[in-house]
Amino acid sequence: MFPSRFDYSAPDSLDEALATLGQRADETKVLAGGQSLIPLLKLRFAAPATLVDINRIPGLDVLEESNGHLRIGTLARHNQLAADSLVGRRYPTIASAAPQIADPLVRNLGTIGGSLAHGDPAGDWGSVMLALNAEVVVRGPTGERRIPIDDFLVDIFTTSLNEDEIVTEVLVPQPEGSFGGAYLKLERKVGDFATVGVAVHLELDGDTIARAGLGLTAVGSRNIKPTNAENALGGNKCSDELFAEAARLAAEAADPVSDVRGPATYKRAVVEAYVKRGLAEARDQARARAGRT
Ligand SMILES: Cc1cc2nc3c(=O)[nH]c(=O)nc-3n(C[C@H](O)[C@H](O)[C@H](O)COP(=O)(O)OP(=O)(O)OC[C@H]3O[C@@H](n4cnc5c(N)ncnc54)[C@H](O)[C@@H]3O)c2cc1C
Repeated sequence: MFPSRFDYSAPDSLDEALATLGQRADETKVLAGGQSLIPLLKLRFAAPATLVDINRIPGLDVLEESNGHLRIGTLARHNQLAADSLVGRRYPTIASAAPQIADPLVRNLGTIGGSLAHGDPAGDWGSVMLALNAEVVVRGPTGERRIPIDDFLVDIFTTSLNEDEIVTEVLVPQPEGSFGGAYLKLERKVGDFATVGVAVHLELDGDTIARAGLGLTAVGSRNIKPTNAENALGGNKCSDELFAEAARLAAEAADPVSDVRGPATYKRAVVEAYVKRGLAEARDQARARAGRT
């Protein structure tokens, strides 16, 4: 099917994009990679009067460390994050997730900001950013807001972004001490959305867990941060028993539904197995970084 008629604007500054968006925010959509929006337009599930294409705005694909954070510009493509050497060295959870998103075509165009703004509970970035305690930076008519990712993600396809705001970047705190992380994703076939995804991030001080971050994909109406499991880990020494207990708590926080990808009980069991496995992997990476095995 063809999309409904729409006006198309491709500004080359953020101010201009915000001005166009502000004219009729309820009838306007921001276009980033188009990998979720264009299918929705074609199916006529969305029929905005205007599209504001932000791809020509310079600087929105920044990827650098600054002031204690990794700054990821909203237009950073999944593939850019998969290939970046700084990300590869210092942000293992991001580096592990990026190449598991969709297929090469989607990864070439899809953006981190578009993915988070879309609010799909099966989206992989939401869980990664929950594990990393990231913040989403948005600009609107009254200025800039920094929204913790756990407040940004509200419900299925619903975020706390206002209609007249644009996501500009994602801020990920720089890891401290020795750290490790992983993204474990079960999919029916390569390129599929997750049946279950688990993001894990650990920071160790010696063998004590200084910070633990977890995020769960496709097991609820939004990406889930299993805080009970994170709290159980924090301040304790790494052990298989502790990881098993955290995995049990994470599975308890999951709220999956039975669907074509499998029954709820199976998905919950996968969460438990993947959290345990991801924590062991993150611990081994952190020990290797600290020169211990
Ligand atoms: C075949 C296929 C398989 C896929 N598999 C996966 C997968 O395994 N895992 C996964 O996580 N994702 C998957 N996706 C989704 C993909 O990652 C998309 O790229 C992503 O969800 C949306 O990013 P985008 O840049 O394409 O956004 P767009 O499609 O351009 O926009 C999506 C939504 O976000 C809004 N938006 C975009 N950018 C901004 C911004 N800066 N500020 C405010 N609002 C904004 C748009 O208005 C729209 O509502 C898949 C998509 C396809 C087509």
